[in-house]
Amino acid sequence: MDDRYDVIVVGAGNAGLSAAAATSKGGLKTLLLERNILPGGCATSFCRGRFEFEASLHELANVGTKEQNGSIRRLFDSLGADVGWCTEQTAFRVLADGHGGYDATMPSGMEAFCDEMERQVPGCRDSVVTVFKLAEEMNAAIAYLSSGKADPNVLMNEHADFMRMASHSVDECLEALQMPAKAQNILKTYWPYIGAKTSELDFAHYALLLERYIRTFPAMPEMRSHELSLALEKAIRDSGGDIWYNCEVTELLFDGETICGVAAGERKWYAGHIVLNCFPSTAYSQLMEASKVPEKAAKIDSARRPGSLFFTVNLGLNRSCDELGIGDYSVFLFDSPDAGQQYDTLFDTERSFIIANCLNKVVPNASPKGTCMLFLTTMLTEEAWGEVKPEEYKRVKNRIAKRMIETYERRLGASVSPYIEEIVIAAPPTFARYLNTPDGTPYGYQIQPWDTMISRIMNARNEGFIDGLYFVGAHAERSDGYSSTYANGRSVGERIVREVQKNVGA
Ligand SMILES: Cc1cc2nc3c(=O)[nH]c(=O)nc-3n(C[C@H](O)[C@H](O)[C@H](O)COP(=O)(O)OP(=O)(O)OC[C@H]3O[C@@H](n4cnc5c(N)ncnc54)[C@H](O)[C@@H]3O)c2cc1C
Repeated sequence: MDDRYDVIVVGAGNAGLSAAAATSKGGLKTLLLERNILPGGCATSFCRGRFEFEASLHELANVGTKEQNGSIRRLFDSLGADVGWCTEQTAFRVLADGHGGYDATMPSGMEAFCDEMERQVPGCRDSVVTVFKLAEEMNAAIAYLSSGKADPNVLMNEHADFMRMASHSVDECLEALQMPAKAQNILKTYWPYIGAKTSELDFAHYALLLERYIRTFPAMPEMRSHELSLALEKAIRDSGGDIWYNCEVTELLFDGETICGVAAGERKWYAGHIVLNCFPSTAYSQLMEASKVPEKAAKIDSARRPGSLFFTVNLGLNRSCDELGIGDYSVFLFDSPDAGQQYDTLFDTERSFIIANCLNKVVPNASPKGTCMLFLTTMLTEEAWGEVKPEEYKRVKNRIAKRMIETYERRLGASVSPYIEEIVIAAPPTFARYLNTPDGTPYGYQIQPWDTMISRIMNARNEGFIDGLYFVGAHAERSDGYSSTYANGRSVGERIVREVQKNVGA
């Protein structure tokens, strides 16, 4: 087997797959190496008994319909991938307990969403419409910044709202728009998709996320997220790329100060461009000698911290969702209407919120006739999970899962416990083992006021500390999520293609 490539991609998560698809499609000789035996990282599925469970995806933004396609549908179409998309008409249902609590079912699509907001909170429509208008402006400004330009005059003249609002938090901007409190709370329902407190999360980032989910209908692939990973895998192979599974990269190879390849145990491969779908912290601590890590890279890396941790419970139930009275695909269960208080539950293994998804509501034949699958997710901080001692692991894991199931039953009035045929619990160590991320986070580095999506985009090129070495994934500038990691991987892949073409032409 040849050991020389133009590009080597380490890790076949969403960003690694889309980077390798872009470079192989761009005519570069590409090798993708993955330590697991399957592609996808988070984007995968697993079987227990007669159920095939989704490992991560609740809903994929930016898919849209055939007639009104979003960027993700276009991405897969352009790869010739025939994904069976199941579009969601309802964006989410949110049930918030406590004083001022509410139960709102919010449709997808801008008009329907704004109408329902007005029905829920009379008088809020104008401010909600303004949020979506601002999101469009944020989008245009971020596209400008992503192109590597940042002329202050252009920003002031053409992206004035962005300049006014970008450095402010979600809470500050919604307050400035004089949006009624209940409407603010409903609008903030998606904060777990970034995992940051809305008083600290920059408005531009959240507005973009919200707009992506609401404007173009979110969707689920018919065959779980594994279908998406297989489609990208096929695209890489179809354009001549090589993929090796069960192949953990253990070392980055240097020729003097220049990166020149990777090693997996005794095996070595060489390329001028190395793309890592693992965290910089993992690369610096595990894949290279400390003397090779640039001082500034080490400093930035140690200032960042891993994002939120996940805890999931997958249930295979031997009754259909209709028989069990499960009416919604996606429900957020909070014990307070206040987003700040909701975030604080991440510090408490006894209280953290739940997102409940019943895949059969979107993909009716996702499990055998007369059965359904329920996917319960919660999130925790490293501080909360760090309290759990190894000897307590099994007990705490089972206690959290039991609490999540009981909370779901109590809040939604659906009895599911007697019908559990399969149960699979994934705690932070499960994710850490599978993904090789710090503490098991699938969310990259925590978004913080000094380390926002925008500051990352503006600094992205300055953070290329080692020529020829690129990082892609949830830890990169666009942060976590399927659409962000696909977009990040693809744009880095396309950039490498352009650089190679430029050098060939020079
Ligand atoms: C429970 C859950 C629910 C989620 N829900 C949603 C959702 O509804 N919508 C959404 O948009 N996002 C969701 N996410 C987030 C989303 O899944 C992730 O942010 C995204 O998939 C991360 O992609 P990534 O490219 O960073 O790669 P990862 O998924 O982190 O994969 C990295 C890959 O690199 C491999 N690797 C690492 N080190 C090496 C090495 N040394 N050698 C070889 N291979 C290596 C790993 O094995 C892994 O396969 C969810 C995540 C979870 C866990």
